[in-house]
Amino acid sequence: MFKRYPTKKIFVGDVAVGGDAPISVQSMTFSKTEDVEATVEQIKRLHFAGCDIVRVAVPDNAAARALKEIKSKISMPLIADIHFNHKLALIASESVDCIRINPGNIGDKRKVAEVVKACKERAIPIRIGVNSGSLEEQFENKYGQSAKGMVESALYNIKYLEDLGFEDIKISLKASDVQRTVEAYRILRPLCDYPFHLGVTEAGTLFHSTIKSSIALGSLLLDGIGDTMRISITGELEKEIEVAKAILKDSGLVKDGVNIISCPTCGRLEADLVKAVSEVEERTKHIKTPLDISVMGCVVNAIGEAKSADVAIAFGKGSGLIMRKGEIVARLDEKNLVDRFIKEVEKAANE
Ligand code: SF4
Repeated sequence: MFKRYPTKKIFVGDVAVGGDAPISVQSMTFSKTEDVEATVEQIKRLHFAGCDIVRVAVPDNAAARALKEIKSKISMPLIADIHFNHKLALIASESVDCIRINPGNIGDKRKVAEVVKACKERAIPIRIGVNSGSLEEQFENKYGQSAKGMVESALYNIKYLEDLGFEDIKISLKASDVQRTVEAYRILRPLCDYPFHLGVTEAGTLFHSTIKSSIALGSLLLDGIGDTMRISITGELEKEIEVAKAILKDSGLVKDGVNIISCPTCGRLEADLVKAVSEVEERTKHIKTPLDISVMGCVVNAIGEAKSADVAIAFGKGSGLIMRKGEIVARLDEKNLVDRFIKEVEKAANE
């Protein structure tokens, strides 16, 4: 039985992360952050797509100075992504809801202490964002870019902040391949109780990122690991959110709307099932009630699937069956099947 790993709860703006909070979905803009108009436009698109938290890159002063205006124009919690330069983190801390840094990359403990003080004053968390491609030299020299090296870096950075009396922390351990990512999160999970941000970094294009992220994040989520997540896809915004939500839903962690079970079709098929499934998908998008609905090409597996589905349809030659919880409620001509099926699904949702 699935059991989520217990962690501390922190807040990124008004979004709770960890503890009993729902697993939130994050994304990142790819505009030049100082182009406020373009950045706000991308953030609004992400918000509309269902993103919970957004991150922007802050590589220089121009980006850091733009954060205040960006924040004033959006309602989603905003994270500043900063490497090396603690001054940028200090500027960002005045406007954003969370800072992503690697304290070890900033180096000088006094500089990290300044950032921690600023975050404490504004009660904003820090994400320790370990990335296998940018490990501190001492860990890369000793462990290479391995999961062990990533975990050692995370522990080092956690201690860095804890020594400064700061525990408003979440952690990510991202590698660009599935096995190292999963291994690193699994090793670190029992060693601390801070919430985890999951992701496979530089995961590639839509197709490859979807596969890698589904395997890595799906494995971790089913282990009960993960409190917030980002799917990184080259050049995509809304798709990142769509894939993240699909992973949560198809892992069974979020119950939201219809789950469509449909057969792959084969030589027994006597109907246009592909068209029917597309139509069902389109016409049930508005339904928010969690329902399992099954659309099958013939009676071979349809009756079995129908028993566990809320509403099911089994096509035959020129006609088919509509079932509710395995009980036949109608036998109709093929042309009337989808309409009646949708009516039954809506009825089930209202019940
Ligand atoms: S349900 Fe029927 S048509 Fe669909 S794949 Fe199975 S045997 Fe083939």
